[in-house]
Amino acid sequence: MKKIDHIGVAVKNLEQSDNLFSKLFNKDPFHRESLDSQHLNVSFFELGDTKVELLEPQSEESAIHKFLLLKGEGIHHVAFEVEDIHAEMERLKNEGFQPLTETPYVGALNKLVCFFHPKSTNGVLVELCQKEDH
Ligand code: ZN
Repeated sequence: MKKIDHIGVAVKNLEQSDNLFSKLFNKDPFHRESLDSQHLNVSFFELGDTKVELLEPQSEESAIHKFLLLKGEGIHHVAFEVEDIHAEMERLKNEGFQPLTETPYVGALNKLVCFFHPKSTNGVLVELCQKEDH
């Protein structure tokens, strides 16, 4: 793994949280996106060479909706940049970490992503995302 690509924060209302985090960081989000397949609306703030992602559920079908019910707003996942997501996913599976999907899929910012269950990582939901230039 190369570095922290972004930190994901679960929020109830993306518009309100965009305003709040814009004040906190003193800059606007550089990207907003609807991920309909995951029932999510997201926005991204860039801070140096890392990012903060805000995630709002579109509906009760969203995993973020369940997270908000159980834990409330707050840090949801940490995403790490990798060179080769397929190889890294295999390596982690072989080490006994539990992936949430069998294969990577296209997530926000058109990046290939996959997640590992917090049960297998001391409570941290881990996202891998592959660099864009691959
Ligand atoms: Zn993420």
